[in-house]
Amino acid sequence: MRESDLKEYTKEPTPFAAVAVAIIMSCIVMFFMVGCTVDSSNGLQDETSTRTGAYGVTLKPSTGMYVSFETIVNVFGDTMACMGMTAQDVTVQYVSYKEYFNGAYGAPWGGWIVNSNLVFVNTDDLGLGFQREAGIDKEILRHEFVHYILYYNGADPKHGNPMFAQCGLGVNTYN
Ligand SMILES: [Zn+2]
Repeated sequence: MRESDLKEYTKEPTPFAAVAVAIIMSCIVMFFMVGCTVDSSNGLQDETSTRTGAYGVTLKPSTGMYVSFETIVNVFGDTMACMGMTAQDVTVQYVSYKEYFNGAYGAPWGGWIVNSNLVFVNTDDLGLGFQREAGIDKEILRHEFVHYILYYNGADPKHGNPMFAQCGLGVNTYN
């Protein structure tokens, strides 16, 4: 839930029905943003070997993950369902952009390497005053997966595509 929404909902005492509607509405909003799923794997974790799961989703050895490999696969499935498209064989890796790309790609949350099946999540501290967590990881992954799924389907994978607004804006709640 966005902080601005929270303020709106809590401005004054509201009857139970209004609260229930607010909760349902926020869940609908959450659904489009993060799939309305509760991730129990909130906390830093590593994968020491390469793993491949459903849809050919591959995770290369990664450190500093706030979601499990299973969650990454689920996010890919959710993103495809949201877009009404299918794809496979995406490869995800968590890296320090500073070390891995030597500054070549700046300091984003993550990225999709254009015209490839490679998606990265940046583990560097971006100096924004708060920590990455599972919700942010999922928003990053959804956004980068939208790039890849569009590309895989021969559609325009650039940010102008309305699929980003529909299924993967990125880390908008925190900007
Ligand atoms: Zn993007």
